[in-house]
Amino acid sequence: MLCLGGKIVSVGKTKDALRDPWLRKNRRQVIEIDCTGKVILPGFVDSHTHPVFVNPRLVDFEKRIEGASYEEIAQAGGGIRSSLDGVRKAGKGLLAAKVLSALHDMEAHGTTTVEAKSGYGLTVESELKSLEAIRDAASGWPGTVVPTLLGAHVVPREFEGRSQKYVETVCKEMIPRATRRKLARFVDVFCDKGAFTADETEQIFEASALYGLEVRAHMGQLSETSLWPFLRFNPASLDHMDHVSDDDIAQLAKRDTVATLVPGANYFLGLKDYPPARKFIDAGVPVALATDYNPGTSPTMSMPMAMSLACTQMKMAPEEAIAAGTINGAWALRLADRKGSIECGKDADLAVFAVDDYREIPYWFGVNRCELRVLNGTVQAFS
Ligand SMILES: [Zn+2]
Repeated sequence: MLCLGGKIVSVGKTKDALRDPWLRKNRRQVIEIDCTGKVILPGFVDSHTHPVFVNPRLVDFEKRIEGASYEEIAQAGGGIRSSLDGVRKAGKGLLAAKVLSALHDMEAHGTTTVEAKSGYGLTVESELKSLEAIRDAASGWPGTVVPTLLGAHVVPREFEGRSQKYVETVCKEMIPRATRRKLARFVDVFCDKGAFTADETEQIFEASALYGLEVRAHMGQLSETSLWPFLRFNPASLDHMDHVSDDDIAQLAKRDTVATLVPGANYFLGLKDYPPARKFIDAGVPVALATDYNPGTSPTMSMPMAMSLACTQMKMAPEEAIAAGTINGAWALRLADRKGSIECGKDADLAVFAVDDYREIPYWFGVNRCELRVLNGTVQAFS
């Protein structure tokens, strides 16, 4: 594989590549990496992460072990709301440092493209600050970051009982200001009980469309929501999807909306049930896998861990898990023309694993076999 200017320019046998007159003449200037006996994949595309937070949520962790539910933890002052204080008080520099540190950890496990959401500020200022932190961290990392405004993560306490007022703040202030400053590519909504209703989600999608931002949503994590009202907005991806009807799966199969499954959250919450990956795949719905990296329900940066859970808990084949973590993740971010596969003309995003067989990547769980990454043509190795 020959990469030049951050792009893959040739893929094939070494002896064929060496017939190329340009390469013959310039071979000394080329960085050669011998990957004999190793597995090279397109860099992982982690299409669902929440990296802008300050502290881990250890109280939630312990309370959940003691048996408290998601809703009980939220009512006790834990949950998403407990991350708000930290983000609201933090300076942009601290938040950017936290995001950058997460990007490095993700990269260490083979990830080269990351979707990063705001969503732990939930005021106009702190959501914009979170998106600026994502932008600043991205500028210090050679990989690719796709920023998403998740102002509609949960209704903040000061708007309790007035969710409509908060939705207006999202639609009339956050979305226009994030758009004007080019801080977000997507708008995301957490549509579920305890978060935003289907009607509120539609309002936010309408405002997004008005400002030319594409949409995605957290859907069906805690309860089932009928999907048809949202399909007219052509969402890039609907994520979680633990609870979904067969009819909606059939509808999704006719569209290019991706179902992004995040089994790390099910694992960390100690749930017995996982999203019905086989139903999606067998119906022809493209399935992506992501870490859902966040402090409350999925504190992992490892795509191989998400892939391992996909194989063992959702009965995805290793090759399905790899496709879900690469090319389908790229589709979920509408970047499939540049990312997610090793093809001429695509970005030089690669991950090299010290294993003999690709199936070992989801097989060795809880350890990291990735030893080298190429991100937009930049070679990064950690010893
Ligand atoms: Zn999420």
